[in-house]
Amino acid sequence: MEYTEENIGDIVDIKTDSGSYLQERIVMVYCELCSANFIGPINRAGAFLARHDAFHQWEFKIETRKDMIA
Ligand SMILES: [Zn+2]
Repeated sequence: MEYTEENIGDIVDIKTDSGSYLQERIVMVYCELCSANFIGPINRAGAFLARHDAFHQWEFKIETRKDMIA
């Protein structure tokens, strides 16, 4: 399924191998650190935000470590 801005606000049921997500709302979220956008069901939007958060925390950690060495 492909989601566009036209789908925002839709309530959908999504069936996957690992389970069925019922009454999921389609939302648009963005990462406040790199401004990447995501349109899709809330449970995926949460994963998108968590992954960006994990990545940017890693990025920050690496940068901090470089500063400590230099
Ligand atoms: Zn990001």
